[in-house]
Amino acid sequence: MARYTDANCKLCRREGEKLFLKGSRCFSEKCAVERRQVAPGQHGRTMRRKISPYGLQLREKQKVRRTYGVLEKQFRNYFKKADRKQGVTGEILLQLLESRLDNLVYRLGFAPSRKAARQLVRHRHVMVGGRTVNIPSYSVRPGEVIKIREKSKNLEMIHAALKETGRGDDIPWLRLNKAGLEGEMLEVPERASIPLTFNEQLIVELYSK
Ligand code: SF4
Repeated sequence: MARYTDANCKLCRREGEKLFLKGSRCFSEKCAVERRQVAPGQHGRTMRRKISPYGLQLREKQKVRRTYGVLEKQFRNYFKKADRKQGVTGEILLQLLESRLDNLVYRLGFAPSRKAARQLVRHRHVMVGGRTVNIPSYSVRPGEVIKIREKSKNLEMIHAALKETGRGDDIPWLRLNKAGLEGEMLEVPERASIPLTFNEQLIVELYSK
């Protein structure tokens, strides 16, 4: 499957804000957004400051898409699915993205970034509901237990991530059992409890043109 392989920090620099794509580095002074406040490429310094309403919508969509590490076509499919459901489309879009297995492995703190979580899943280190699942986009249902496989429980990366981030502890719609390396999504989160500052309504406006 196609995936983005260029430097992650370029994506943050392009958006002019931190998207937290690299684990602990994002919280250190090595963060590229902290060090270089210009967009990447030879026109980075001269990029227009004024941004059109369409530009704003496009940038917001890119920020969300890049945060979850989803490619354009897949992101549009998430939007179509959200649009077909009853309710607030922007909120449903975020709920669908939050339910992805790679996102939940990251949110529970088993991996330092969504990209690392994706790799854990691809390499068959993660079980859902007692079965090994190696599909990062797998949509987890509330109550399904996400667990690190027995033979993978000694992986240093998982323990380092758990120690470092303390993630999973402070998210009310997640249950985390650190000792057992397992957790679950207790319910589909409401917008207010999704820790993201993006304006998803701009994405709805973009795709509704
Ligand atoms: Fe983005 Fe993290 Fe790189 Fe900073 S260190 S630019 S937040 S990916």
